[in-house]
Amino acid sequence: MILEEVMKFKGVVNLKFADTHAHIHFPKFKNDLDDVINRFKESGGKFLLNIGVNIEDSEIAVKYAKRYGFKAAVGIHPHDSKEVPEDFLERLQKMVADVTVAAIGECGLDYYRDLSPRDVQREVFQSQIDLAAALNIPLVVHIRDAYEDAYEILSSSELPNPPGVIHAFSADEEWALKFVKLGFFIGIGGPVTYPKNHKLRDAVRIVGIKNILTETDCPYLPPQRFRGKRNEPSYIKYVLEELSGIFGKDPKEIGEATLKNALEVFRR
Ligand SMILES: [Zn+2]
Repeated sequence: MILEEVMKFKGVVNLKFADTHAHIHFPKFKNDLDDVINRFKESGGKFLLNIGVNIEDSEIAVKYAKRYGFKAAVGIHPHDSKEVPEDFLERLQKMVADVTVAAIGECGLDYYRDLSPRDVQREVFQSQIDLAAALNIPLVVHIRDAYEDAYEILSSSELPNPPGVIHAFSADEEWALKFVKLGFFIGIGGPVTYPKNHKLRDAVRIVGIKNILTETDCPYLPPQRFRGKRNEPSYIKYVLEELSGIFGKDPKEIGEATLKNALEVFRR
């Protein structure tokens, strides 16, 4: 083996990393979830935040997180905002009492698919921000084609400390810096590996590793080499590989730094 290869090999063994956005309880994993989780742990996965998208789904997300020794986030996705039960805030608050729950989310605004009316999305988002601030538990925020409105809402609200993460960040470096200034981490996953996604790699470079959380959003958003297929938590290693190229540091160092960030935000 030539020296360069030895170095590369050394860089990828003994990885430690976090997946701060997964949906392991979704039906796509129902046939082989134990294998999926084993691959995650064997490849160096040390922390996983399993994310709910509505009340019932959040209850399931917590159950699965417990089963594998992970953490969970409970919340109402913008898509599900139009169908929230009247007592959704009380029910979220009740779930947060469980130490498995480390965040409120995913919540936010999605003007790309517009599956709930925008005024309803804003209202349900705002009430989850207020709940997170009152309970001082971080937010997992989903924003798609709604950066302007989401920023306006978040910047004029009281926020938990630390505020949380802008998950699957998809805007430019200017937006990234604005959210970092509010105290948010920037959630980076599969899309950073897409050849044409220079905009996202520029944003990553500008905010620096100290403001980044790694995530998959599995079963969605697989890295380039698995596009069109199911994503899974162990594929964080391909995200680390890409980040390693951007920052000129080895994947081991990137994995450890972003794991530390994750434990700092979701520290319950
Ligand atoms: Zn998600």
